[in-house]
Amino acid sequence: MNLSVEDVKRWMHVSNQKIQENKEYLSELDQPIGDGDHGHNLGRGFEEVVKKIEREDYQEIGALMKDVAMTLISKVGGAAGPLYGTAFLKAADEWKGSPTITEELFIQGLEAAVEGLRTRGKADRGEKTLIDVWVPVLDYVQNHDIQPFELKGIAKEGMQSTNGMQAKKGRAAYFREASTSHIDPGAYSSYLLFEALYESVNI
Ligand code: ADP
Ligand code: MG
Ligand code: MG
Repeated sequence: MNLSVEDVKRWMHVSNQKIQENKEYLSELDQPIGDGDHGHNLGRGFEEVVKKIEREDYQEIGALMKDVAMTLISKVGGAAGPLYGTAFLKAADEWKGSPTITEELFIQGLEAAVEGLRTRGKADRGEKTLIDVWVPVLDYVQNHDIQPFELKGIAKEGMQSTNGMQAKKGRAAYFREASTSHIDPGAYSSYLLFEALYESVNI
């Protein structure tokens, strides 16, 4: 895997398409264990992300990722805006000055992103959040030659594993045992981002 500025732009475009296609579903997932706005929050944010990155001409990936992060922070709101914003901002720091992302650099970016998510969310694996997708993906890339299809599969398993967990963080935690038999909306949107990555690097 070796990602150029164009590849990363494409990743963000495909992410936007997937978020828009699944906007209603993501908000539906957020209904029984939240306030029903996750898809609409992210839909608004990613629409702005693609507008922003199309206007700019990037020489390196850090600047591109930083624009993605800042747009998500300012447009998404709720829990997910600052969380995704932090993840992309931490990755942007690692990718600063790099016109392409090698596999090693990708892993470094993902490590920083996950560290940012953990710190920002004060959460870890097993608490029914998007972290249940990001941590297994990180484990996978740290321990294998990255195969994008496998990465997508790991993200999917992580997303599905939240169905069966009791929420310990965020709004869903207020639902206690009733939160258990549902997929976490943030885990689903994170799965879409990794599915989008898989599709972008295979084109
Ligand atoms: P809000 O709950 O403010 O309406 P969203 O609906 O956009 O925000 O996002 C909810 C998602 O955010 C959850 O499904 C979960 O994955 C994630 N989330 C919420 N709180 C935390 C946290 N403390 N740590 C990690 N992820 C969290
Ligand atoms: Mg919500
Ligand atoms: Mg909300």
